[in-house]
Amino acid sequence: MLSMLKNVVYNLTHKPATRRYPFEKREPFEGTRGHIENDIEKCILCGICQRVCPSNCIQVDRKEGTWKFEPFACIVCGACVDACPTKSLIMLKEYRPISHEKYVIVQKKETKASAEKEEKEGI
Ligand code: SF4
Ligand code: SF4
Repeated sequence: MLSMLKNVVYNLTHKPATRRYPFEKREPFEGTRGHIENDIEKCILCGICQRVCPSNCIQVDRKEGTWKFEPFACIVCGACVDACPTKSLIMLKEYRPISHEKYVIVQKKETKASAEKEEKEGI
C-alpha cells in the first residue's frame, strides 16, 4: 500500500514519461541514420556508391548522365556515404517522409558521354 502511494505521489508530481506526439516531436540523436541525399553538383558519376550498395538501390549511368536511387530499397547502412570520393552523398539524421507510393529519385548531370549521346541523337 505504501509503495503504491509512493508511485501515486511520484506520478502526480513528475512529468509523464511519454511525449504528446505529434504535438511534441523528439529531435533525432546525433549520428542517427535517417536518409541519404546526393548533391548532384559534387557528384562525378563514378559509380562507386552503386558498387558498394548491398541492396542494389543505386544505379549510375554515365552515358545518360543519371544517378538513380530507390529510397524504399535502401537499408540506410551508410556504405555509399563512406565510399563516395567527393562527399556528394551525405547521411541526414531526419527520416525520409512517409509515402503511400514507391518512387525512384532521378538526378541528372551533364557528362562528356551524355553530351555526346545527346548530340548523336539530335536532342
Ligand atoms: S560515389 Fe559519390 S561521386 Fe561517385 S557516383 Fe556515387 S554519389 Fe556520385
Ligand atoms: S545507405 Fe546503404 S543501402 Fe542505402 S543506398 Fe547507401 S549503400 Fe545502399
